[in-house]
Amino acid sequence: MKTRREQIVELLSKNEKMTIQELADFTKASVKTVAADLDSVRKTIKYDNKRIEVNPASCVGCNYVFSGRGRISDPHKCPECHSERINPQKFRIVSV
Ligand SMILES: [Zn+2]
Repeated sequence: MKTRREQIVELLSKNEKMTIQELADFTKASVKTVAADLDSVRKTIKYDNKRIEVNPASCVGCNYVFSGRGRISDPHKCPECHSERINPQKFRIVSV
């Protein structure tokens, strides 16, 4: 039996980008739990010479890109057009 964090590392290592919501659905955990897991995974995989690659979130309305946030949780509102329709971040694990 794998731990949830091991499952997340495995899923994100398959070269397929996933959102926090997809990871939450897959592991049957809450989005908040998965975000905390990713934060922890990000630190531990460094020792395996891997890192989490992030596709930044973007606004559906005006295509504003939330780049360089450095945060795992998704933004809720666009600072440009104030839309709350946001394409979530996508994550995968790559070798450094
Ligand atoms: Zn916008």
